[in-house]
Amino acid sequence: MGDLSQYTSLRVGGPARQIVNASNETEIIEALKVADAAGLPVLILGSGTNVLVGDQGFDGVVIHISSSHVESEVDACSGATLSIGAGETWDEFVATTISRGFAGLETLSGIPGTVGAAPIQNIGAYGHEVSEFITRVRTYDRKQKAIRTFTNSECNFSYRNSIFKVERDRYVVLEVSFQLRVGEMTTPIIYAELARALGVEVGGKAPVVQTRDAVLKLREGKGMLLNETDHDSWSAGSFFTNPILTAAQADELPIEAPRWIQEDGRVKTSAAWLMEHAGVHKGDAHLGARISSKHVLALTNAGNATAADIAALARDAQEKVLKKFGITLVPEVNLVGLTLN
Ligand SMILES: Cc1cc2nc3c(=O)[nH]c(=O)nc-3n(C[C@H](O)[C@H](O)[C@H](O)COP(=O)(O)OP(=O)(O)OC[C@H]3O[C@@H](n4cnc5c(N)ncnc54)[C@H](O)[C@@H]3O)c2cc1C
Repeated sequence: MGDLSQYTSLRVGGPARQIVNASNETEIIEALKVADAAGLPVLILGSGTNVLVGDQGFDGVVIHISSSHVESEVDACSGATLSIGAGETWDEFVATTISRGFAGLETLSGIPGTVGAAPIQNIGAYGHEVSEFITRVRTYDRKQKAIRTFTNSECNFSYRNSIFKVERDRYVVLEVSFQLRVGEMTTPIIYAELARALGVEVGGKAPVVQTRDAVLKLREGKGMLLNETDHDSWSAGSFFTNPILTAAQADELPIEAPRWIQEDGRVKTSAAWLMEHAGVHKGDAHLGARISSKHVLALTNAGNATAADIAALARDAQEKVLKKFGITLVPEVNLVGLTLN
């Protein structure tokens, strides 16, 4: 039995029946085959930075993925093609691409977690999503018991979503391939806060290295970089996704609520804005759980929280937003062994 609180950035979660550390593809597939043959539930874990595991733990096999390999091909015309093992640390990979002179991933600097988890919820920050750079995702399909490789369009990427999240227990990511530009400058900076930090207009470009530094600084100010000594960062990142509303639903919101029109005509609004205007505030606490003092969307473990404390704080935020705006906030964090309803 292992305690899952040691495997998650929220540092909560009870015991698992079994934890297998898989450090290469063969070990991952073998562990899956054994668990599936025994009919045991499986939980795949990378760095555990996007999960809330219940206090009762997980009565099944946790496969902790730490497989790491890097293959790269660089061509002056088509740029760099990199294939990375699922267990590589995301931000170390980003830093390496930048030091090798490849551009693209700089706004995604500082996101905790593994490369293999990046496509699951199509990680994004400061105006970009990882789906813009992924060419292929190599998986093990537990249903067909075979390797299956997805092209970008087959991944069905959308805001914080993909086929791997929708068919949650079916595909285990083994390797992700990326296509990056060779270059020292970014594409146009589209996120106003980042443009300001870089001293450029929205739509202007900036050096890639400087952009990574600016992103890391912005993230630090919001408690969005993992830091052992800063309880504000003992979170799972943004707890809720930004709601995407129909145009009619968006019309019901106060005029000052943020609105981002989507390609399909729907309207994305800000979960943080809804929470703050429904009476949820930075620093609010429930027993050991606390809303970060730096970012209202980050629910944190102030030191001695249980999963139940964090879930109660999340429920309270959901109830307040529902009552005030008629909108149900949807967790971005993956809930294991507990629900909010
Ligand atoms: C401080 C902080 C800041 C964050 N900021 C951002 C941000 O800016 N943008 C953003 O998008 N996210 C952000 N996150 C969330 C998180 O970093 C990402 O979702 C990350 O990709 C999770 O990686 P992980 O390895 O920790 O995944 P885990 O938490 O271990 O797993 C997450 C989910 O993916 C599944 N999974 C993991 N690996 C695999 C695999 N190889 N195959 C199949 N399924 C798998 C798990 O079963 C689980 O359902 C933040 C989190 C924290 C703590």
